[in-house]
Amino acid sequence: METQYLLTQNDMPTRWYNVAPDLPAPLPPALHPATLEPMTPDDLSAIFPMDLIMQEASQERFIEIPKEVQEILQLWRPTPLIRATRLEQALGTPAKIFFKYEGTSPTASHKPNTAVAQAYYNKIAGITRLSTETGAGQWGAALSMACNFFDLECKVYMVRVSYEQKPGRRSLMHMFGGQVTPSPSDETESGRALLANEANYPGSLGMAISEAVEIAMNNKNTNYALGSVLNHVLLHQTVIGEEALMQLEMAGTEADVVIGCVGGGSNFGGIALPFYRRNVTDGTKTRLVAVEPMACPTLTKGPYAYDYGDTAKMAPVVKMNTLGHDFVPSGIHAGGLRYHGVSPILALLHEHKLIEAVAYFQVPVFEAAALFTRCEGIVPAPESAHAIRAAIDEALDAKQKDDERTIVFNLSGNGFLDLASYDSYMAGKLEDYAYPEENIRQSLTKLPQVQF
Ligand SMILES: *Cc1c(COP(=O)(O)O)cnc(C)c1O
Repeated sequence: METQYLLTQNDMPTRWYNVAPDLPAPLPPALHPATLEPMTPDDLSAIFPMDLIMQEASQERFIEIPKEVQEILQLWRPTPLIRATRLEQALGTPAKIFFKYEGTSPTASHKPNTAVAQAYYNKIAGITRLSTETGAGQWGAALSMACNFFDLECKVYMVRVSYEQKPGRRSLMHMFGGQVTPSPSDETESGRALLANEANYPGSLGMAISEAVEIAMNNKNTNYALGSVLNHVLLHQTVIGEEALMQLEMAGTEADVVIGCVGGGSNFGGIALPFYRRNVTDGTKTRLVAVEPMACPTLTKGPYAYDYGDTAKMAPVVKMNTLGHDFVPSGIHAGGLRYHGVSPILALLHEHKLIEAVAYFQVPVFEAAALFTRCEGIVPAPESAHAIRAAIDEALDAKQKDDERTIVFNLSGNGFLDLASYDSYMAGKLEDYAYPEENIRQSLTKLPQVQF
């Protein structure tokens, strides 16, 4: 039996899939954070290049991937689809389990798929520097790498706790020439305002976004880049699902269920949206399951409402599931899943019951990661381990019902730079933080009142 389903570089997708024309309803407009009126392309052009602004609002089903972007993606794409036969045996399940392995990229996650595209469009627009935020460091590393390929400077605001706890990814950013500053910092007005409140803020993604957006607004040659949530980011990630569709055909099977972890929603959107297109156009019934941490349960518990994308209210206001823009989740080890909001595309699909969502505590997630490592030999990123947990539970359900379903999950990243988290798990020091109901309730009292 074959284990790996490999495509050649000639098979690499040459177009991204844009889900917009296939959505069950139009996406509600993004609003200006100051006026709460719909944003115009002009408003967005202060921080994004026009090509990306056009992609954000595009209604074309397919968009060509520029040659310059394809050439860099080919450094690691296509990525393998692997059948987890040893995991199947360990579970004693009749189900087939496949995973798409995005940890083979140079920075070990799916994030370079969009970082390269974003750096390219900024480069051809004449921008010389990109600013961004990063939590665990995956996005900062991906963007630093992409900027390095296109001769752009890269300025990264890294959430302070992670800056101190995850020196490995900081080094990776430095290797690619990125400049990394712990956030909140004294370099920006929003950072200084926070530090005036509390000198030792551990930081949050929402705060770091405010700092990165601020310097992009104030410098003509600097633009801002976001690693998830936005429509164009999910668009760039669809190469994952397009490849997976071809690879499942090679394997002679069809996906009954496709699973991915969700922070802002880009790796899940990347694998799931091409399967969603087939559900719409071919009438297939592939279930699409988004997996989140119980400590930050955006899709499972957050209302579908307009909210700010960041703490200082500088980023666009979008309609999504949200836990409130100043909600600070507890310090779970899956740093990439600690965002208060989620992609508006996924929120809309969830609202129409076209995707499902589940949430897990971190201890069972790490148990799943340990079993996976021992069976398949790969240490997953703690974020990706959420998808593994859900895939294992699907396989156990299939076992109980004696049903040979095909399960596909996205292994969004490798965990070699997260080994300290695994040390905590093995030492029995991981906590299952309770679902933060009261904090969320308070944070939700601060949603903007909008008329849309
Ligand atoms: C950033 C990250 C995530 C979460 O982000 P999404 O945009 O939801 O994909 C998941 N897995 C890994 C490995 C990450 O680096």
